[in-house]
Amino acid sequence: MDPDYLPSLRHNGALDPNNWQPSRDNLRDDFGARRVEEGDLVGWRYAAWRVHEIRPYLDVDLTDRQRERLDELVQNVTDDARTQEFERLRPFHVVLRHVAGPLAIKEGEAPGWKRLHDGTREISFTSWPHRTRWYRLRDPYKTCSCHGHPWPCQEYDQKVMTAHQMREMDRLVATAQPGVCAHCLEPISNRQKTLTFPEESRFVPGAPGPTFHAGRGECWGGAERYEREGRLASNPDVVRLASCPGIRFIHEQLGMPSDKRIDCTAGPFCTGQHGPAGYRSDTPCYSHVQLAGNDGAYARPTFDCGYRRGDIACIGGDMSSGGTSLSPTAADQLWEQRRRGAGGWIV
Ligand SMILES: [Zn+2]
Ligand SMILES: [Zn+2]
Ligand SMILES: [Zn+2]
Ligand SMILES: [Zn+2]
Repeated sequence: MDPDYLPSLRHNGALDPNNWQPSRDNLRDDFGARRVEEGDLVGWRYAAWRVHEIRPYLDVDLTDRQRERLDELVQNVTDDARTQEFERLRPFHVVLRHVAGPLAIKEGEAPGWKRLHDGTREISFTSWPHRTRWYRLRDPYKTCSCHGHPWPCQEYDQKVMTAHQMREMDRLVATAQPGVCAHCLEPISNRQKTLTFPEESRFVPGAPGPTFHAGRGECWGGAERYEREGRLASNPDVVRLASCPGIRFIHEQLGMPSDKRIDCTAGPFCTGQHGPAGYRSDTPCYSHVQLAGNDGAYARPTFDCGYRRGDIACIGGDMSSGGTSLSPTAADQLWEQRRRGAGGWIV
């Protein structure tokens, strides 16, 4: 496959042109910029645009909601840095003029687009620096040979996306072959531990539930994902075979009896399904596991085993740092957090 395959899949705009990113060798800044200036040439939705005008929002221009949003964004910043951070995150109004490439207009967006006397297209909108990454193009920039558009062009990205989807489809069909692990697609021998889901396959309609290697971390990961994003998503009460709602902490104090060493935040609701030894669910008892949308709260073991080493200590049973709480469904929350972080269709 083309060496550009993966990078262009990550920044592929075939499904949403807003996800498009010009190729690395077309960019002035390695990771894009939060702000742009008048005169900059930028890549946006497969086309090259010139920044015609930038107007920072003045305080009087901010709606109450925008003001609130900005205050929220800077609330965790120390007092001396707050004003500066506020300015850095202040939204600005940007006016772009079309230079070259396709015009990808979304439904309902047309009122924001203008045609100037000489026929040039212009669009203007508000940009929030914490949300938007601008791709400033090199000048001259690399173009495709098929259309002369900034590289990679829409048609190329569509081809890459179609090839990817076909490969995925082939992969899904392969997961339903008997005697094969649905994650690594390798044959399963009699000696290997396996996990088979009882319901019909979610990958291939009509096929029996997939089987995974239960003793391999990677394959367990595939089974966990199948369960959390498929089985559990459609029926939260289904009996779990590859996941536990809690995080399993390992107490590090020497001489811990084996029945106390392992401590799951789910307590009596622990399913015991934490994967093979060394799978990522084993968390040392001194680790703070931050939970999403749960300000300052972290998951911790249920008791303090007494482990101390330098400044690290078992954090079980500690209620002193305030605002923390035991979270029986910590692993479920973390999973949700990661899934959102990955951003939808990106693989
Ligand atoms: Zn092209
Ligand atoms: Zn496998
Ligand atoms: Zn401990
Ligand atoms: Zn558990």
